[in-house]
Amino acid sequence: DTIGANLDRTVAAFPDRDAIVETFTGRAWTYREFAEDVDAVALGLLELGVGKGDRVGIWSPNCAEWTLVQYGTAKIGAVLVNINPAYRTHELEYVLGQAGVRAVLCGDKFKTSDYPAMIAEVRPRCANLEHVVVIGGSDWDALLARGRGADRARLAEIGATLSADDAINIQYTSGTTGFPKGATLSHHNILNNGFFVGELCGYSEADRICIPVPFYHCFGMVMGNLAATSHGACMVIPAPAFEPKATLRAAAEQRCTSLYGVPTMFIAELAEDDFGEYDLTSLRTGIMAGSPCPVEVMKQVIERMGMTEVAICYGMTETSPVSTQTRADDTIERRVSTVGRVGPHLEVKVIDPVTGLTVPRGVPGELCTRGYSVMLGYWNQPEETAEAIDSARWMHTGDIGVMDEHGYLNITGRIKDMVIRGGENIYPREIEEFLYTHPDIQDVQVIGVPDDKYGEELMAWVRMREGAAPLTPEAVREFCTGQLAHYKIPRYVHTVDEFPMTVTGKVRKVEMRAVAVDLLD
Ligand code: ATP
Ligand code: MG
Repeated sequence: DTIGANLDRTVAAFPDRDAIVETFTGRAWTYREFAEDVDAVALGLLELGVGKGDRVGIWSPNCAEWTLVQYGTAKIGAVLVNINPAYRTHELEYVLGQAGVRAVLCGDKFKTSDYPAMIAEVRPRCANLEHVVVIGGSDWDALLARGRGADRARLAEIGATLSADDAINIQYTSGTTGFPKGATLSHHNILNNGFFVGELCGYSEADRICIPVPFYHCFGMVMGNLAATSHGACMVIPAPAFEPKATLRAAAEQRCTSLYGVPTMFIAELAEDDFGEYDLTSLRTGIMAGSPCPVEVMKQVIERMGMTEVAICYGMTETSPVSTQTRADDTIERRVSTVGRVGPHLEVKVIDPVTGLTVPRGVPGELCTRGYSVMLGYWNQPEETAEAIDSARWMHTGDIGVMDEHGYLNITGRIKDMVIRGGENIYPREIEEFLYTHPDIQDVQVIGVPDDKYGEELMAWVRMREGAAPLTPEAVREFCTGQLAHYKIPRYVHTVDEFPMTVTGKVRKVEMRAVAVDLLD
């Protein structure tokens, strides 16, 4: 199936069920209404001269129109380019040029960012860019009006020419380990992944999914939107960007059955002063993903939010995204402490990154994924694609993990973060977990820095608790001695107020390493 054909099937089956609700504006669409607007956007884009294979950028915080553009482009085979709403001109110009975007739809109706002004600034340097449409503005209204006046039968003709293996979406990675790369994904990649997420959560037309995670990222647009529309479930948008109270209110008032988030979102919701006043009894399931989740948080999500079937998923933009998942019938212990087992119709193996051979269960190595979910490649980056996907179509994730004898995986770090000191492989996460136990340390990140004698040495970046004095390297050494092997004890300690972060909330160790080299000069 293509995404458009799949949506048509759902619309035919559940025309009067809710498709999407925007709680912050009170607007709602049934599947019939949703399909009408999706088709209007699709036909409106055609009237602009945009068609199959053309790249169409969407640059907006979460709103219903984001999804209209998502499905509208899919219907005509245009390639949706997700642009991070937090990007500013430098990143915008890179993406518009790199993906060769012909039309951009941007949303400024929340007045949080002046998207049209930023586009105007870079436009002279973006030769490909022909159309800019401001969502909610007069051009948007005109596009919809032209689309509504056009013949819907045209979409059926175009639909028949599309293939599920066509590129339909370019999603940029978070940029945690370097500059974001444009993962190019097909209908087949993301529609299947969304469908299987829906199966994992047991969705039907009776489900209402609260989606506070950004649509520009695969968590929102695939695990949220495509999981919903492939099952006739309803997408509930609590706010343009994450707000804990708005999320709790939407989940309660909309009687949501499912709630999504990265661990920090659930932590914020559980910490709200009026948490007890929201009636969350309708919640049954949900997904936590994106970065490692503390065991205690997962327990609270199950107990205090009543999300008894909640799943942890692990994946990456390049694999549509989900590769492994916990299931409701796994033991609580496994559901809180692992990222589960490989998903349906996928393969996962753990290899020695140097020899490429599969390592025994229980031994850490690089995770590789194979199957329908692996992207077509990085957009216009053949060398990077060849590095990531080998000749047997295994995606080398760059993540370090351990698989136990029953097939449950644990993510223990990233290869790019691994430090090799005097021939010893060191995973910073292990040292970070230990240093967290120091009473004066609020947060800590460990990196490798170049060293003449050992190749690399360890440096800890430490955020002290309010009122605590900075730790000296001697004090850290003393704390670690007898607890960690001597080569794992950081030689350098650097006190900071915050770490460099990506907009998806991940720490950028690349940037830390660059700063560290300057510090040591
Ligand atoms: P870039 O590739 O640009 O450096 P990124 O890898 O952070 O950025 P994403 O595709 O958004 O970009 O994130 C995928 C990564 O997130 C995975 O490779 C993994 O390191 C991490 N991750 C995802 N889910 C989990 C999880 N459940 N537990 C631990 N880590 C996770
Ligand atoms: Mg990555």
